[in-house]
Amino acid sequence: MRDFSTSHEHLSLNTATVRKQWKLDRIIDECARRGIRAISPWRDQVAAVGLEEIARRLRDTGTRLSGYCRGGFFPAADAAGLRAALADNRRAIDEAKTVNAPCLVLVVGALPGALDGKAAYKDLARARGEVRDGIAASLEYARQVGMPLAIEPLHPMQAADRACVNTLEQALDLCDELDPGRSGLLGVACDVYHTWWDPKLAEQIDRAGPKRLLAHHVCDWLTPTRDLLNDRGMMGDGVIELKKIRGWVEATGFGGFCEVEIFSDYWWGRPGEEVLDTCIARFSSVA
Ligand code: ZN
Repeated sequence: MRDFSTSHEHLSLNTATVRKQWKLDRIIDECARRGIRAISPWRDQVAAVGLEEIARRLRDTGTRLSGYCRGGFFPAADAAGLRAALADNRRAIDEAKTVNAPCLVLVVGALPGALDGKAAYKDLARARGEVRDGIAASLEYARQVGMPLAIEPLHPMQAADRACVNTLEQALDLCDELDPGRSGLLGVACDVYHTWWDPKLAEQIDRAGPKRLLAHHVCDWLTPTRDLLNDRGMMGDGVIELKKIRGWVEATGFGGFCEVEIFSDYWWGRPGEEVLDTCIARFSSVA
């Protein structure tokens, strides 16, 4: 297992972590200044500055990517909605190519409209079918341009509104179905926040193996959790056995960046400098 205690060379920052403090160009500069060598940016943050400008800044600072956030949200109420989702995922794949991402992360979606409190239907099996079909169609395009897709299972508390793929097992079943040859173009993102509770976590990480384990995200699970989306903890402040899980991840041969991803009203209220410095310190001591 890699030793993180003396260096944060394997740290990547998911840029949502300081999205309320800074725009993306500033985030890239603040990371580069601290020796954070990689980021995983969100599409809206990229668009706010400009795709070409961000690509140039990444090159100028030598900043790499650990992923690109995000594609997905495939289910829709009607055929036009399904087509629009596929078109949007195609654009996301093109953007991920432009910024040289190693993968496009997929938050696959769930009951259409549920995020706004108005689910168009309640049939979760239908949503899961639309997710499968959406990934299959997107994978065809991803193959043409060579952009791996990483399915990120979300905690079941988000099964209605954000992702109806909720375990690594479910995500890997989709990989088996849609990419039986293990081409490396379809895999999973293992985020400890969403998966730490899963009794099958160790076996499913092992099942994914290096070809399908495309990303590893860390933060912590606070007790009590006050908000289903924006109360993630800084590493070390919660109950997740981060090192144990990283041991399972690295036992597969995974040698990529360990991505810190914290959606937190608390940390969004702190100065960005303090957040990044704390991320580095905790990465070294507890991740
Ligand atoms: Zn994540």
